[in-house]
Amino acid sequence: MFCWLSRLFRDLSRSTGRTTQPIWGSLSRSLILSSQRSIPELSSFVARTNTCGELRSSHLGQEVTLCGWIQYRRQNIFLVLRDFHGLVQVVIPQDESAASVKKILCEAPVESVVQVSGTVISRPPGQENPKMPTGEIEIKVKTAKLLNSCKKLPFEIKDFVKKTETLRLQYRYLDLRGAQMQYNLRLRSQMVMKMREYLCNLHGFVDIETPTLFKRTPGGAKEFVVPSREPGKFYSLPQSPQQFKQLLMVGGLDRYFQVARCYRDEGSRPDRQPEFTQIDIEMSFVDQTGIQSLIEGLLQYSWPSDKDPVMVPFPSMTFAEALANYGTDKPDTRFGMKIVDISDMFRNTEIGYLQDALSKPQGTIKAICIPEGAKYLKRNDIESIRKFAVDHFNQEVLPVFLRANRSWNSPVAKFIMEEQGLGLIRLLEIQEEDVVLVTAGENKKACSLLGKLRLECADLLEARGVVLRDPALFSFLWVVDFPLFLPKEENPQELESAHHPFTAPHPSDIHLLYTEPQKVRSQHYDLVLNGSEVGGGSIRIHNAELQRYVLAAVLKEDVKLLSHLLQALDYGAPPHGGIALGLDRLMCLVTGAPSIRDVIAFPKSFRGHDLMSNAPDSITPEELKPYHIQVSWPTDSAKKRAR
Ligand code: ASP
Repeated sequence: MFCWLSRLFRDLSRSTGRTTQPIWGSLSRSLILSSQRSIPELSSFVARTNTCGELRSSHLGQEVTLCGWIQYRRQNIFLVLRDFHGLVQVVIPQDESAASVKKILCEAPVESVVQVSGTVISRPPGQENPKMPTGEIEIKVKTAKLLNSCKKLPFEIKDFVKKTETLRLQYRYLDLRGAQMQYNLRLRSQMVMKMREYLCNLHGFVDIETPTLFKRTPGGAKEFVVPSREPGKFYSLPQSPQQFKQLLMVGGLDRYFQVARCYRDEGSRPDRQPEFTQIDIEMSFVDQTGIQSLIEGLLQYSWPSDKDPVMVPFPSMTFAEALANYGTDKPDTRFGMKIVDISDMFRNTEIGYLQDALSKPQGTIKAICIPEGAKYLKRNDIESIRKFAVDHFNQEVLPVFLRANRSWNSPVAKFIMEEQGLGLIRLLEIQEEDVVLVTAGENKKACSLLGKLRLECADLLEARGVVLRDPALFSFLWVVDFPLFLPKEENPQELESAHHPFTAPHPSDIHLLYTEPQKVRSQHYDLVLNGSEVGGGSIRIHNAELQRYVLAAVLKEDVKLLSHLLQALDYGAPPHGGIALGLDRLMCLVTGAPSIRDVIAFPKSFRGHDLMSNAPDSITPEELKPYHIQVSWPTDSAKKRAR
């Protein structure tokens, strides 16, 4: 009789890809697990005695009042009521004396809000639903009230019902009713609570709000501007509270943190939002190890109890090692397929392309080995890999297969000499049916290309059913010893900060600042989780002279914009350092959500729009007048280009 119920729960718990979707049951379980010290009072101050999700056999015989949404109704006999905590079955009374209650409960459309009062009774033997946390009981209703009726919905409030993201964002308030969004937002709230507890109560941090109307910060991300009523004067929305948190250290606050909203006008990228949230931290009298230990402790303390515990300390890798072995500064260390330098093996090769590359400055030959690639990668895959390399990196990629008879299958097979082949097998630990991708060229470019292909091939193998990355594994990694400056992309003769202009140089490289600044390493550290950067910070320059030199002489920035900070550093600024964790990205990885938009209540679309309210929106010339602003409308062709 209850197969429809168990089907609902099976559907609710259907996997969405990387992790299993939580069902209403696990949501209520995690709520209870989270409150290790005291069980939160979920029904204080309101018109219910209990939540739908909390009722169990221990409540048998109790008179309860519940408020919730009608999830569905079956044959006008049962109704399943839902609130944030879970689902409960309500028995619709059939006797004549309760006709008015029956009418309310049978006529209210699905997703209407009702209040019911009645007794908790046990389900008849054989009709329990073990998959439903409240599956042993049901509610025998005495009274019911329709609190608000629901019109026809644009989509069903069931996680297994597929809907486009545009529709979800347009009706976000409805999308939020689903179990997955409820789980994501509640888990986020719990983790932030734990972080506050750890920082404030266990380590004496002070939670301080900093302004969001500020001025332009030189160097770094593009900022949003906000008009002011003074002609030609604008505020900027801060890309992070960086300057304020340093000034708080000068002000003797000693340990600052904030759940800080940051703004960056950087255009659309899948894992970015124009406004996002950081757990922003700054400490006085601290070094790199101090900050790293703090963050390891913070994550360990706030880690959800339904996930495998976080192991500390996190491993660490230098920027140079990360680039050489993984071709990126944010390596996904959950699987191997590392980049291997095979230049020495091919010093006297007859393959022209390789010879050519080795004769150039910084020329190298690099390779990655894709385990069982011959079995899982199709000819088309190899062709699109080669095309990608040409289109995006202007690089050749040579595929080399090791056949079962240990001979080579490759366009260059006949040029691979015996000792080269043996060397390749040894260096790359090649097994039969593996594919090796070889590229040659300038060191950095070759590594970045293979770094991209490594991830691409991992995705391809996984799409074909190979388990390379355990979805339950959280692989944290510190990346350290970054260069202080990098050549600007648009003009490589000029330097820009690798992190931001306030980052201190590595103490042993300070002398190079005045002679070869491009060689200076910094005291900047990034935190990487499963191949995504989830945090970054640095020990800061606390000497005004040094800060002025970096800004003016190396970065060629206008120091006047930062005169307040430079002045503050001159008035006894303590040595200090900090870090910021990207909360949205962290939560996205923790919950296994496909996008950071799934861990934000009201995110912007990929193009930076709020699809529910249509922001950004136009305003009238009249409204613009106080700001002394006029719109210069783009021509039709420019508009088209912008689209
Ligand atoms: N403000 C920096 C950022 O947003 C983090 C830091 O250096 O603390 O990346």
